[in-house]
Amino acid sequence: MAVNVVMLGPPGAGKGTQAERFAREHGIPKISTGDILREAVQSGSDLGRKVKALMDRGELVNDALIIGIVRERLAKPDCTAGFVLDGFPRTVPQAEALDAIMTGRDPLIVVEMKVPDEELVRRVQRRRVCKECGTNVSAFGAGPGLVQLCERCGGELVTRSDDSETIVRDRLKVYWRDTAPMIAYYGKRSTFRSIDGAQRPEQVRLGLVAAITEMAREAGVRVNPAGSGVKTGRGATGVSARKGVGA
Ligand code: AMP
Repeated sequence: MAVNVVMLGPPGAGKGTQAERFAREHGIPKISTGDILREAVQSGSDLGRKVKALMDRGELVNDALIIGIVRERLAKPDCTAGFVLDGFPRTVPQAEALDAIMTGRDPLIVVEMKVPDEELVRRVQRRRVCKECGTNVSAFGAGPGLVQLCERCGGELVTRSDDSETIVRDRLKVYWRDTAPMIAYYGKRSTFRSIDGAQRPEQVRLGLVAAITEMAREAGVRVNPAGSGVKTGRGATGVSARKGVGA
């Protein structure tokens, strides 16, 4: 029985942070398409060169490319007990392709995190990511020119290149145009819930766990209790393989 979670929500809703924690605590991989693409950009691979300009402008990379990446990733053995997808799907064709990939597997459990646009813009401007391990933090009170270091690995915290106010507003437009219709695609299913992502992070975490547990029970899937996950840190969630961010 696998807990196959999809986290939906606009940039800055807190999907990455919540997805990472849920995945770590339950011993399943967190798969972030944004992380996979940023790693490709950082390494200078063919894929990275292909997607860099689009990502810098806050536009989506093409469906066929990203679907191919996710199909390959979900076929890996570490996904047999489940996974948490963060940042995929983002369009109706991606959601349809994911359904096809999931044929014969346990059902998708889909959670949408809702946050008002102005709050998202504020949050994203405060967001910093570790250049080394990719951990996200909110830079409350960080002064200009002040170098902050990652609590996990000591790496330098930087602003993502697509987190400027103009680009974030463009990313939100893309979200409302391309991604919101996909939420209607999932909205009719019994394995779909929306949660209020504007609450404090701990409240969001509790809401998320409650929603996933309830949907899993309805779908006949067992969710292992928190803490049952492999305790080897980022390696267990598939994040450690990543070096650097597109900042
Ligand atoms: P994220 O970290 O999820 O905000 O993604 C950063 C950027 O990567 C996006 O603005 C897109 O350019 C690209 N990207 C990530 N996931 C997808 C996806 N599922 N479909 C298309 N583009 C994506």
